[in-house]
Amino acid sequence: IQRTFSIIKPDATRRNLTGKINAKFEEAGLRIVAQKRIHLTKAQAGQFYIVHAARPFYDELCEFMASGPIIAQVLEGENAVVRNREIMGATNPKDAAAGTIRAEFAESVGENSVHGSDAPEAAAEEIAFFFAGLEIV
Ligand code: ATP
Ligand code: MG
Repeated sequence: IQRTFSIIKPDATRRNLTGKINAKFEEAGLRIVAQKRIHLTKAQAGQFYIVHAARPFYDELCEFMASGPIIAQVLEGENAVVRNREIMGATNPKDAAAGTIRAEFAESVGENSVHGSDAPEAAAEEIAFFFAGLEIV
């Protein structure tokens, strides 16, 4: 059993898609073991996405992630990191496989509805960034 970190991004909370996206996770066998709705400041978004600081889209990404509430969540299941990436689909919705969250809901490569950790080490860091141990059940 593995845990991964997920974010339902502002474009999706704005369009009231939280339930539809959570249904995708649950139908795929991932369990939502922690979840909270928060509104990041641009500085907090910048800290979370610090690995992308040198990328040309960094400023736009931070602005977007602070543009509305997000749902931060911990997902648990067999092979959760890889499984979640499969359910999310490719970064750019144009390249995302049919049936994936990004294929169905994402608006663009930037406003792509969900974030998911890309490795177990990243998952542990990202979970610790948002949650205290007692909040994960
Ligand atoms: P995430 O880390 O959000 O799960 P990802 O791992 O599929 O997505 P990354 O390469 O880590 O993709 O990029 C992080 C985020 O930065 C993307 O999800 C997207 O919101 C944004 N992003 C990536 N590429 C671009 C781009 N070319 N233009 C604008 N925004 C982008
Ligand atoms: Mg990533």
